[in-house]
Amino acid sequence: MLDIQDVQAAYGAAPALWGVSLRVDAGELVCVVGPNGAGKSTLINVIAGLHRARAGRIMVDGQDVTQLAPHRFCGRGVAIVPEGRRLFTGMTVQENLELGSFLPGPKAARARTLEQVLALFPALRQKLGQPAGSLSGGQQQMVAIGRALMSQPKLLLLDEPSLGLAPAVVLDMFEAIRSINAGGTSVLLVEQNVAMAMELARRAYVMEEGRIVAEGIASELMHRPEIRKAYLGLE
Ligand code: ATP
Repeated sequence: MLDIQDVQAAYGAAPALWGVSLRVDAGELVCVVGPNGAGKSTLINVIAGLHRARAGRIMVDGQDVTQLAPHRFCGRGVAIVPEGRRLFTGMTVQENLELGSFLPGPKAARARTLEQVLALFPALRQKLGQPAGSLSGGQQQMVAIGRALMSQPKLLLLDEPSLGLAPAVVLDMFEAIRSINAGGTSVLLVEQNVAMAMELARRAYVMEEGRIVAEGIASELMHRPEIRKAYLGLE
């Protein structure tokens, strides 16, 4: 589904990714964890075509998308839920959701996909006519994920979906992500909530200072002493 090889990226002269390789197979849920500033958001943005890779190769569904301009990237079956949600807070929930389905295919299926999103997040049904900015943080995150799903992606990129949410809301959010993946959508999840992300994902990558420093089956990584110590605060 996604195969990236040796990707480098920078902000001006400051390197942010030093040659990152990673893959997400069809139907997989994979997480990327690591401390602040490790380059996780940069990686997600590069995969989504929002930030240009300086070197390396990004393949989506067998096609090389490395040099595609962001607007040409649409329709490749990849949707991003950016860090901080980036909703249009003055527009209604329904308008925000429909923005995700502007391409012809998803537009034709709009009503059906909207029903699927509301089945996943029933709390949004009563809120469709309200400004997105009037919702709680958790509900706004549901709208952000719903908007991405409205484009009927094959691969969903999630950048810190649990950020700023209360623990009980985080549990619901992770359950929704599990359910999206169970429906067949591949997921690449970036999280600082390491324990929960590792529990949800089949495979995981650990990033530090722009590099992948560990990778493997999430449940096995969780048992490595250096990971337990650095990320879980356990000896
Ligand atoms: P966080 O969880 O804090 O978002 P992250 O792992 O997602 O961290 P990035 O946001 O990708 O990390 O940042 C990687 C590096 O790039 C950091 O050193 C950061 O300071 C730098 N960086 C990120 N965005 C910009 C930007 N717009 N301009 C300049 N440098 C940036």
